[in-house]
Amino acid sequence: MIAVLGGGVSGLAAAHYLNCLGLSTKILVIEASNRLGGWINSLKHEDGTIYELGPRTLRVAGNAGANTLALAESLGLTERISSINYSHVSTKNRMILVDGKLHMLPNNLKTVFTKNPPFSKPLAISALSDFSAKKVINTDESLFSFVNRRFGLEVAKYAIDPLTRGVFAGNARDLSVTSLARRMHDVEQQYGSILIGLLKDRKNAEKADPVLSKSKLVKQAKKEKWAVWSLKGGLESFVEVLEEKLMQEGVEFRRNTPVLGIKRSGSNLVIQTDKEELEVEKAISCLPSNTLSPVIRSISPELSRLLGSIPYVTVCVVNLEYPGHLLNEPAFGYLVPSSQPNKVLGVIFDTCTFPQGDKTILTVMMGGYWFKTLFGDNPSDESLLDVAINEVKETLKISIKPVRHKISILTDCIPQYVVGHSEIVFNSRKLVKDLKLPLTLAGNSYDGVGVNDAIMSAKRAVLSL
Ligand SMILES: Cc1cc2nc3c(=O)[nH]c(=O)nc-3n(C[C@H](O)[C@H](O)[C@H](O)COP(=O)(O)OP(=O)(O)OC[C@H]3O[C@@H](n4cnc5c(N)ncnc54)[C@H](O)[C@@H]3O)c2cc1C
Repeated sequence: MIAVLGGGVSGLAAAHYLNCLGLSTKILVIEASNRLGGWINSLKHEDGTIYELGPRTLRVAGNAGANTLALAESLGLTERISSINYSHVSTKNRMILVDGKLHMLPNNLKTVFTKNPPFSKPLAISALSDFSAKKVINTDESLFSFVNRRFGLEVAKYAIDPLTRGVFAGNARDLSVTSLARRMHDVEQQYGSILIGLLKDRKNAEKADPVLSKSKLVKQAKKEKWAVWSLKGGLESFVEVLEEKLMQEGVEFRRNTPVLGIKRSGSNLVIQTDKEELEVEKAISCLPSNTLSPVIRSISPELSRLLGSIPYVTVCVVNLEYPGHLLNEPAFGYLVPSSQPNKVLGVIFDTCTFPQGDKTILTVMMGGYWFKTLFGDNPSDESLLDVAINEVKETLKISIKPVRHKISILTDCIPQYVVGHSEIVFNSRKLVKDLKLPLTLAGNSYDGVGVNDAIMSAKRAVLSL
């Protein structure tokens, strides 16, 4: 028997790819909660309105993007896809909030070459600093420091800082350039300039996987220039359909079954739950690293320590629904740099990307790295809702009350790839190998925090068995 620990999207993807191998061994997915899908969670109201409580859009770019599309196609989801292309207003219009004012980030050649507040000079001029900036030899540094060094403080402060708040709910001053922008770091190390390096090093840019490129859906996405996609009925349909297919194919599931410990038994592993002890030949862990850490301690305190050293942040997600179309400036939404006094990370204009009739649905993201400092240990729902509603009122001038809302506190939902993360991941996997553990580490704790990365990590884990 092979066990997949954790039934988030990476666990389900691992079970799927294992199943594709056609092994005679039984596959068992062990999940702590009563539902599968992990952070992918679409709240469906009776009238058909959907709020995404976790991820909402999947990127198309790169092999990881193509891989998820190919998987969606194999699950028969093609007809359910909603996509937007690169000329859609939500792809082009991304704003930042500085000093209480919304500013559109440069999104075409003209705006790259002109001065756009809050930047004091055209972005093209900031880019030129890369040619004169001194190369600093290092193995890793913070994304903020790297961009500040190469392109100047304004780019770090008004582009990178809000972007990392939007994607990782994290602090760019802590997050690792080699984990989040490895190629930029590598070309600086080799060529002394990012722009020259990227031009000279084109041979090392990611090449499209020829197998994935054959997928009809990948071809369609490329032809129609899709930027991101989701599913009609919510992103959770992806995990529901995957789960159904796996069940039909004989994959077994244990829900409400937290993994409490892992022991060795000869060359096998014993998975301990509150109900039973299961001896398995192999396990793929798709658990968050901070959950695997205590579970693995009795086998290796060092592995437990390494896994436990990856920090996580908590995000409060507030979905707000208003009647009518209320936004003056259609866009993907806006992000708030950490230098601003506002208590939110950003606001997503959900119904600009995928309209849902005559209504405006916004998602306010709050907290992340700053959760405790801003909201304390145990904020009430009312206080969090107040912050979200006031933000929308102040910035978007929407002063009517939302007709419906949903507040979700997602505890420890995003792993933080801080400086040194790649080394932690490398050392963890090396230790697993040195200890000859029949265990593989997959999921969003290691090789990328997006859904595509989590699925790709599961695929690689299966292929490495
Ligand atoms: C608010 C938010 C917005 C996001 N937006 C996007 C987006 O728009 N696009 C995008 O690509 N990505 C986005 N992401 C990231 C994306 O959601 C994750 O990368 C992805 O869902 C991670 O999947 P996973 O299976 O690796 O981990 P998880 O979803 O964390 O799954 C882990 C599973 O393990 C289970 N588990 C935990 N402990 C145990 C235990 N002891 N025993 C058994 N099971 C256990 C959990 O219940 C869970 O089901 C977002 C994330 C958040 C939080």
